[in-house]
Amino acid sequence: RIPLLAVDGGGTKCLAVLVERSGQEVGSGRSGSCNYQGSGEEAAARELMQAISQALEEALTRYPNVPSTPSAEWEVECAVFGIAGLDTEHDRQVITGMVQRVLQQLHVHVRHLIVENDGFAALLGATGGKPGILVIAGTGSIAFGVNDAQETSRAGGWGHRVGDEGSGYWIGKRAIVAVLKAADGRGAPTLLKDLLLPFIGLSRVDELFNWTYGSFYSVDKVGELSVLVSQAADQGDPVALEILQDAGEELFLAVRAVIEALHMKNKPFQLILQGGVLQNDDRVREIVIDRVNRYASSVVIENAQNDPIYGVVAKGLAYLDSQSEQ
Ligand code: BGC
Repeated sequence: RIPLLAVDGGGTKCLAVLVERSGQEVGSGRSGSCNYQGSGEEAAARELMQAISQALEEALTRYPNVPSTPSAEWEVECAVFGIAGLDTEHDRQVITGMVQRVLQQLHVHVRHLIVENDGFAALLGATGGKPGILVIAGTGSIAFGVNDAQETSRAGGWGHRVGDEGSGYWIGKRAIVAVLKAADGRGAPTLLKDLLLPFIGLSRVDELFNWTYGSFYSVDKVGELSVLVSQAADQGDPVALEILQDAGEELFLAVRAVIEALHMKNKPFQLILQGGVLQNDDRVREIVIDRVNRYASSVVIENAQNDPIYGVVAKGLAYLDSQSEQ
């Protein structure tokens, strides 16, 4: 019996860890995006399956007495899934069904199953019940908050097609638009062209357009382009600098909406910034921190928990503690 399975299923990567009550990790597995809104349910389930089965295989080496056959049965006390793309009741049904099918196929029996949005699961664990706001800007983006009355609120995060402002996808898409505009003469010339084309393996701008409708296109691939926008900005490219500036401002708007909804403006809270964009690009990070600091009175920047998996594990451990106290 393993006490905890924690899964952070983001739009960029899926990370699964098996954890002892002490917090000690006994297995971990990693795969690609499991946001079904980006890649479809089948692909998302495959990624989930891969990350969890890798974690189980690694755990087998630590528990040599467990028979290592494909049909080994696993008992897990508590499993917490934080999954990107869980935005509505409809999503909850789809994703819970998907998680249950994956667990069944892997012969994992779970006593207590928690399935939440990735930002929500990470936030609740990370703050340990204290007021806080967590912003994710990875492939997708979202802001989630909890106040001292334990009320929660979210803003943004409405997926790549009509939302996710400030995310890697949003930045990457703006970069593609900027290259097309510059080629037409509708926008300023930009270094982004020289960075994007070879990165995708193309030589001409018209091929870039075809790529966006081709079979190699994917939401997380567009998200990866955000790294090139940071590189162009490092070299002083004004178009790239503007995109990143706008990303920071958009992420702040999401945080501000949460501050307002939860009446946190004049109360202390921690701000947790997660996801590739906020971890890798100091400009975007600094804009968010600066705007939030100017808007709210007492904000503490939490730097330790820079990956959502910490919060998801903490949420699971808190559940196990509450059970052993009863
Ligand atoms: C998804 C959200 C998710 C966010 C951050 C968005 O694309 O719709 O559910 O929380 O990305 O991963």
